[in-house]
This record gives sequence, structure tokens and C-alpha cells, in this order.
Amino acid sequence: MGNRTVAIIGGGPAGLAAARLIKLGDPQAQVTVYERSDASGETFGFGVGLTESTMSNMAAADPVTADRLREASHDGHSLVLRTGDREVELHGARNLAIGRAILLEVLTTSALEVGVDIRLGARTDIDDISADVIIAADGARSAVRERFAGELGASVSYGSLHFMWCGTDFAVDDANFTWRTKGDATFVVHAYPYADDRSTFLIETDDHSFRAAGLDRFADETPAGESDERSLGLLEEVFTEELGGRKLLANRTRWAQFPTVSLDRWSTGNVVLIGDAAHTAHYTIGSGTKLALEDAIALARSLSEHEDVAEAFAAYETARRPYVSRFKHLAARSQNWWSSFRERTAEAPERIALSYMTRAGNLGLEHYAAEYPQVAALALRELGEAPVATPGTVDDWVLSRPLTTDALSAPGRELPVDGLDDAHAVRADWSGGEVWGSAHDDLVAELRGADAPVVVLGGPSGPTDVGARIDLAERVRWAGKTVVVEVPVALRSEGAAAVGAGRADAVVTVG
Ligand SMILES: Cc1cc2nc3c(=O)[nH]c(=O)nc-3n(C[C@H](O)[C@H](O)[C@H](O)COP(=O)(O)OP(=O)(O)OC[C@H]3O[C@@H](n4cnc5c(N)ncnc54)[C@H](O)[C@@H]3O)c2cc1C
Repeated sequence: MGNRTVAIIGGGPAGLAAARLIKLGDPQAQVTVYERSDASGETFGFGVGLTESTMSNMAAADPVTADRLREASHDGHSLVLRTGDREVELHGARNLAIGRAILLEVLTTSALEVGVDIRLGARTDIDDISADVIIAADGARSAVRERFAGELGASVSYGSLHFMWCGTDFAVDDANFTWRTKGDATFVVHAYPYADDRSTFLIETDDHSFRAAGLDRFADETPAGESDERSLGLLEEVFTEELGGRKLLANRTRWAQFPTVSLDRWSTGNVVLIGDAAHTAHYTIGSGTKLALEDAIALARSLSEHEDVAEAFAAYETARRPYVSRFKHLAARSQNWWSSFRERTAEAPERIALSYMTRAGNLGLEHYAAEYPQVAALALRELGEAPVATPGTVDDWVLSRPLTTDALSAPGRELPVDGLDDAHAVRADWSGGEVWGSAHDDLVAELRGADAPVVVLGGPSGPTDVGARIDLAERVRWAGKTVVVEVPVALRSEGAAAVGAGRADAVVTVG
């Protein structure tokens, strides 16, 4: 590739990993990283999770760095839901966790070792640099993306939840989520250990709670760049028990709303975007760092295989986009679920657990029942005694349960295509996205207000469309309607999970 010059704006996980991998693939390249922070320890956030699949992708691309990351990480942790004195298991030990500052330190060492030029304290404007290849790795609020918003077809939308990324100076026993109320406000915490003496302690709250607790005022009155001490004080009070009376750790910590970033194209001219600059996936599926590192691997590979920069960018996007889209879809459903958490707190903890585990559509009932049969049995008890001890039978069992609502009776929950001919039903075809926000209130009100007591939701058969209508079904069902969702045969187990977790009353399997 000759003496290709590569300028990388942003020394987060994506930029640093890309820098080293590009040098490894093309030692003649001159690679410079521009990072606005002036020391790698000075960064936002606390710990992040790394999945085993990310670790094996890293190991294949760069075994030395992968080993260092594993060494610096905290062992995988299991996840539980806690409420009052109850604890419900969600999944066994999985992800590694690593402090963001340590992650950056490891990636910095690895990049320097192969001759990457890292310039710290270098806030950079793309118009001030020139290089054969410019990589925008400048994060979710990317200025490069804004500068080329038209060419890239950029869109950014903000979630309705407010969150604060805090830490603690002790390791919680297990990764867990729990919630507390204060007056009319509900607060959820997602906590997990990432060092022997540190945990991520991420707190979120819905917009109603945010205002009810007066946090909007605290947020508005906190000067830029400072931690929101008054909110932190209030949260320490709310989570006294979980914190054992200790203080929350903050690091320019303040309320934020998650930006969902989407681009029609990930490059323009000699500029390419990676990591959060190109796409974001809600933090409740813990995949942002994973996607950032994997983008870096794919881009470095494409650049080493293609002399022509446009071809390299096209190959990178072709390789990554389908995978990233899948994660974005899972993340969007997870975000929906958490956005409506306040409404879920009255349910039995096991039911919340099952609903949580099946919220994004990538894990089914069978999976959860195999890992925690007793919890699954309790979660499904409204339907009878689930055969959780016999693997591979739970989906069929759920769909074979009799349906008896005031509006509809049937011997099972999997209705034949003509099974609704005699029902007083209204049908809607729908494949939109988020359903818990105000943008969809009208649609939900229309379906809730329909004369017919039964609502049938149909539409396209892609996984995204089906997931979207299952989420819509839940919201409509909560208003007392009997809701039937059409699902393709290939996604029958998602239909079973929807019925088992109370998102739908029944399904019609089609195609
Ligand atoms: C609350 C929360 C929890 C999360 N939890 C997880 C988790 O558990 N697991 C997980 O995998 N991910 C998690 N993430 C996501 C993860 O933090 C990001 O996806 C990841 O950091 C993306 O890496 P990046 O390199 O693309 O961007 P960033 O990490 O944002 O890095 C961008 C870098 O660019 C620099 N920069 C910006 N502008 C300029 C400029 N003009 N000049 C020079 N430098 C610039 C910034 O200083 C920064 O260092 C979480 C995110 C949030 C908000």
C-alpha cells in the first residue's frame, strides 16, 4: 500500500484498536491518532463488558492484545434480578468486564508498540488534517458525522430514559439489576463488578420520574463538564441499601439520554466512520465496545486487502453492516423494554425475569427453561405446570395452553389462519420500531379504543417487523385487549416466548 497516511480522530476503543491493526497489516503506513483528552486515565465511564465472541475475534486478529485484555479484565459474572429480599437468576457467568481506563491503557500500549503516533490533548477538526485515509472514531457525538451529515445520511434520535453512568468503590457480588422508588419516581440500577474494588453502577429513570424527583432542575443547573452532585446525593439516598451507605463514584457524571445513531453510508470520499461515530446500540445489551473493536478489525482487514480506498471502505461496510444492524435491532427492543420498566414493577419477579431474558428476541423460553427450570416454571405458572424438566417441550406446551379470555376462546394459543373468522376483531398491519414513546401514542390509543375486543397484528415477516409487532402487542394488551400476533413459522419460538412472557395472548403462525 506504499506509504499510506492514516489519520484517526478519536482515541477510544475503536480508534486505538484500528490504529494498531492497520499498522500490523501494513507496517509502512503512517498512522496518527488524535485524541482530545490529555491522558488515557482521563475518560468518561467506568467498566464495560466484553463478550467471549468479541474476545475470540480479537484473539484471531491480534492475539497479543487479546491476551493483555483478558489479563486486565475481571472474570465473567452471573446476572441476577433483585427486588426486596428476592433474588432471581437471569444468566450464568458470561461477559468479562474491564475498566474503561484500563482498556484504553492496554490498547494504547499495543498501538505505541507498533509505531502508531498518538497525540493526546489534540482536539481535532477534520478540516485541519489531511491524509490518504481519515478515520472518524470520535464517538457517539461525532463532529465528523455532523460535518458530513448530508453525504452520510445521518440520523440521531434520543431515548426517553435518563441515565447516569456511575461507579462504586467496591465490587458488587454479582451483576444485578434492581429498582427502588422515591415518591412517584422509579429508579433502576444496573450494577456489575469490573475490578476487585470497583463496579459499574448505572442508574436510569423514566422521564416522568426524572421530573417528579426534580432532577430536570438539578441537571439544568449543573455547569458543563461538572458532575451533577445534587442528583448523585439523591441517588445515594435512594440506593443506600445497595451501596451499603457508601458514596457513588462520579467522573463528570451527569444525566444523559442515549443517542441512537444511524447512517445510510459509513464513508464519504476518503473519510470512514467506525464505532459509536457510525452506529450506537443501547447500553442495556452491553455491545458498544464490542462493535467498536470489531469494526476496527474489519476496517483494518479491508484496508490491507484493497489498495483502492473506496473499495476498502465498501468491503468494510459490506462485512459489518448486517451484523451491526442485527445488534441495533436487539438493542432497540431492549431499550423499549427498559423504557417501559416502570409499568412492569408490579409483576412477579420471575415473570419480569422471563420477560427480560426474552425482551430482544434473541433468546427463547427453551433457553431460559434449560438454564433455570424452577424460575421458568414460576414465570409460566399462569399457564399451568410447564414441563421445564423436559428439554425442547416448553414452546409447544405454551402454545398448546387453552385460551379463555372474555373475547376469545380456543383450545390452544397457536390459532389456525382462519381461527379468527368468527371473532370480533380489528386487524392492523404494522412494522414500525419503538412503541413505548409518545410518537406511537396515537396508534396505541386507536387500537385500544377500537370497538372490537380482539386485536390482530400482522405485517411483514422479517425478524425486525415481527419483533416490533410483538412489542406493540404488549402495549395494547396492557389496556385489556386480547391480542393475537402473526408470526412466520420460522419465528414460532419467538411467538411462544411472547405468549409465555405475557406480550401476546396467542399467535397465528403463517407461511
Ligand atoms: C452508560 C453506558 C454504558 C455502556 N456500557 C457498555 C458495556 O457494558 N459494554 C460495551 O461494550 N459498551 C458499553 N457502552 C458503550 C461504549 O462505551 C461505546 O460503545 C464505546 O466506547 C465506543 O467506542 P468508540 O471508540 O467508538 O467511541 P468512544 O469510546 O466514545 O471514543 C471516542 C473518542 O474520541 C475522542 N474525541 C471525540 N471528538 C474528538 C475530537 N474532535 N478530536 C480528538 N478526539 C476526539 C473522545 O475523547 C473519545 O476518547 C456503554 C455506553 C454508555 C453510554
